[in-house]
Amino acid sequence: MNVLVTGGAGFIGSHFVKSLLLDDDIDHVTVLDALTYAGHVENLGEAFLDPRMTFVHGSILDAALVDQLMAGHSRVVHFAAESHVDRSLLDGQPFVATNVAGTQVLVDAAVRHQVERFVHVSTDEVYGPLLEGVATEDSPLLPTVPYAASKAASDLIALSAFRTYGLGVCVTRSSNNFGPAQYPEKIIPLFVTRLLRGEPVTVHGQGEHVRNWLHVADNCRGISAVMHDGVPGEIYNIAGGSDLTNAQLTEMLLEVCGAGPELVTYVPDRRANDLRYAMDWTKIATRLGYRPERDLREELAATAAWYRRNPERWAPLLQSPHALPVPAGV
Ligand code: NAD
Repeated sequence: MNVLVTGGAGFIGSHFVKSLLLDDDIDHVTVLDALTYAGHVENLGEAFLDPRMTFVHGSILDAALVDQLMAGHSRVVHFAAESHVDRSLLDGQPFVATNVAGTQVLVDAAVRHQVERFVHVSTDEVYGPLLEGVATEDSPLLPTVPYAASKAASDLIALSAFRTYGLGVCVTRSSNNFGPAQYPEKIIPLFVTRLLRGEPVTVHGQGEHVRNWLHVADNCRGISAVMHDGVPGEIYNIAGGSDLTNAQLTEMLLEVCGAGPELVTYVPDRRANDLRYAMDWTKIATRLGYRPERDLREELAATAAWYRRNPERWAPLLQSPHALPVPAGV
């Protein structure tokens, strides 16, 4: 099986590529990544030693390149995106270009080349905030912020290629991922890299916002199950076992980083900060046998340990011109 992975030098994509190379069914993996501020070839590490992987530096917006690469691939797993909510509040245009137009370029080429399965990787944020209950795959799309709106649009574009042309599209929608080598702007790596240096962290509001936390390896197993056995035209929610308020998460991060509560400051809530996301993931559990396996506390400790061991991987990013000016929460 030959798989084209977009965004494979990013956080989740790189973990996914490395997990694919452990799968005996995989003959070749082609990674297409534009290496934006969030993409780093170092994330792929040992995958470069595997002759079954080819890395291509290029954009999903380059239709000629995408068309050329698509040939010979029976599976596409599409991660490439602008992925950070706070950046979308500053400027939504790159989100529309990459997430919406880029997805159209990919599905057009996938239709032409009769790709068997196109897995579009999306997010729980497309459902918008839920004050109570859980979102199922049939819940309405009510995204709040530009990032979530661009992902919702891309979900619909991908699914329209199934309805119009019969392309074997599956959509996965996961909750918040965490794990080693996440760009230090999302809340867990941001807080860990600050706490490890003894720097303060800021929590929005009273820390009452609720998120579900999913270890990146669990998400990759779910996405892989969908790539192998997902039913075309179907959406699969993927979540982990742990719903936490940001205050609870911060407390756990203080513990795993060995930092004290004096480093936490509560600041006024940011614009359009959805209070709670929650998803029902019964469908992927019952139909594809998915279960989250990773323990939250153990994996937060392992994640903090990774950042402690690998400062050369993240410290330069905090000084880069792409770093956000103020610490951002979720
Ligand atoms: P990331 O920001 O770490 O990585 C995105 C990757 O896409 C980078 O390597 C970047 O260089 C690449 N990219 C951006 N524009 C590109 C383009 N035009 N052409 C080719 N490559 C391009 O993101 P992530 O956190 O790994 O998220 C991956 C996917 O999963 C995204 O689609 C995101 O919406 C989705 N998702 C993420 C989370 C999460 O918690 N991180 C949760 C749910 C869904």
